[in-house]
Amino acid sequence: MRTSIATVSLSGSLTEKLDAAARAGFDGVEIFENDLLASPLTPEDIRARCADLGLGIDLYQPMRDIEAVPEAEFARNLRRARHKFELMRRLGADTVLVCSSVSPHAVDDDALAAEQLSRLADAARESGVRVAYEALAWGRHVSTYDHAWRIVETAGHPALGTCLDSFHILSRGSDPKGIEDIPGEKIFFLQLADAPLLAMDVLQWSRHYRCFPGQGGFDVTGLVRHVLRTGYDGPLSLEVFNDVFRQAEAGPTAVDARRSLLVLQEAVGRAALPEPVVPTGVAFAELVTPAAEPLAALLGALGFTRTARHRGKPVALWEQGDARILVNTGPAVRRDGAQLAAIGLESPDPAGAARRAEALLAPVLPRRRAPEDAPLDAVAAPDGTELFFCATGRPGLPDWRADFEDTGRPATGAGIRGIDHLALTQPWHHFDEAALFHRGVLGLHAQESVDVADPYGLLRSRAVTDADGGVRIALTVGAAPTDDTVHAQHIALATDDVVAAARRFREAGGSLLPVPANYYDDLAARFEFADGELETYRELGILYDRDAHGVFRHCYTRTIGRVFFELAQRDDGYRGYGAPNAPVRLAAQHAVRALTGG
Ligand code: MG
Ligand code: MG
Repeated sequence: MRTSIATVSLSGSLTEKLDAAARAGFDGVEIFENDLLASPLTPEDIRARCADLGLGIDLYQPMRDIEAVPEAEFARNLRRARHKFELMRRLGADTVLVCSSVSPHAVDDDALAAEQLSRLADAARESGVRVAYEALAWGRHVSTYDHAWRIVETAGHPALGTCLDSFHILSRGSDPKGIEDIPGEKIFFLQLADAPLLAMDVLQWSRHYRCFPGQGGFDVTGLVRHVLRTGYDGPLSLEVFNDVFRQAEAGPTAVDARRSLLVLQEAVGRAALPEPVVPTGVAFAELVTPAAEPLAALLGALGFTRTARHRGKPVALWEQGDARILVNTGPAVRRDGAQLAAIGLESPDPAGAARRAEALLAPVLPRRRAPEDAPLDAVAAPDGTELFFCATGRPGLPDWRADFEDTGRPATGAGIRGIDHLALTQPWHHFDEAALFHRGVLGLHAQESVDVADPYGLLRSRAVTDADGGVRIALTVGAAPTDDTVHAQHIALATDDVVAAARRFREAGGSLLPVPANYYDDLAARFEFADGELETYRELGILYDRDAHGVFRHCYTRTIGRVFFELAQRDDGYRGYGAPNAPVRLAAQHAVRALTGG
């Protein structure tokens, strides 16, 4: 199917928007009137530029407040419309979007609306243009798609059809099944947008919170299925008004947009992509650091052993249970301290996983890291984290472990079983994209997004997981642009006895994040504890949470560079990540930073 995007969905000048849409592989664009008005290019220039880029101009929009008005006003509207039809002829655009009127002069008279739209369509046809009439969710008298269609049907004009917009339909709670009653050839255009489920004024919701399909809470896929059953064969076009996208770089937004359409097309059976290969576990987490020593001391205190070193590069493997941490002091390291740069994901089919990622526009990283290395398949996530698809210890498949030679010191272990979860801080404008990436590309499930109060700003957090918790990644972002270095990434280590693990860590010279006494007073009010239990948590700085399934106990190391570790005991199927404790943890981290300047 043809894919298209409205220029309003991307930031920058019209030229930048067109370039970004073409580079991301869209077939066409909707030209938003304000983008044309602000452009120094003539309509002929824009037409030529689109042709050079291989983009069709699938829609010109919007034309507002046309129908169901007194005759004198309609005459003025028609004059205005004729100007726009002439402009569209120069532009080479053959479909115009007319939104249902919000004018206080409009009357509630469907027959009049049909008659005037029919006369508009007459004028349009003279210029070779067709009119697509859309019900705005906040239209004065016409606010539902079925109402708009009744008016179009009454008019019965060949140059008049309807435009369906998933936001306007789903935000009103209309049942999209009725779309199937519209003949496909009378659906002149289909605009798609998702949105988070919010209780707010629908106009504000639309202007600020639309997002790409799969990034919000609407069943956009279900709606598209209804539309396709009518025989509609026009473009799937994204029309997204979003405060973040308006500010973010156009190139990555366009790629994100097209990825969302590919995932959607696959879901409705209109795109054959390589099957998702869901990762089953975390093979390793790779930290890059300018200096190995502070990390080595921390890992040692946590009970890790440096079991192996890379044959060709300054990379050490630290192991304990199934937790594997690579510490890379290689030349590519940035100077701002340790950070989580790469994740190895255990994959049933590493090459297949990479093929799917590539089909979904993820940058594929050079396959060989060095001539002697195992040829690992890897892609870059939207935040730049490298994702390696691994087949650790499986015969016949390239094994990253083979690039390492043992130090002769086997891992002994101090109660760490493996990696419970990885927490990745996302650049502020990549949050929705990241969740869609992990879902669409990796086949993980995205959980609900939660707000977390930081003393210096609001954070949003959303976890993506596989079905049985082998891979858990918590994506966190600041609600507004912040200095990304403020919020560190973390690696949560799974233990069956967090009290013992925390004690051992302290005895080995490790230092845990101190937690204020007020927190424990509050815990005592909220939960019942056995004798001495709360005192133990207070002494060690262990945080506590409980959900409908089980209990979570966790504590944190100090931060090194941009990374810290968490010791996590997850009992009885607890599903969360201790989010209720995050404000206390963040405040404690800010306090430590203020004290140490680190
Ligand atoms: Mg629309
Ligand atoms: Mg955590």
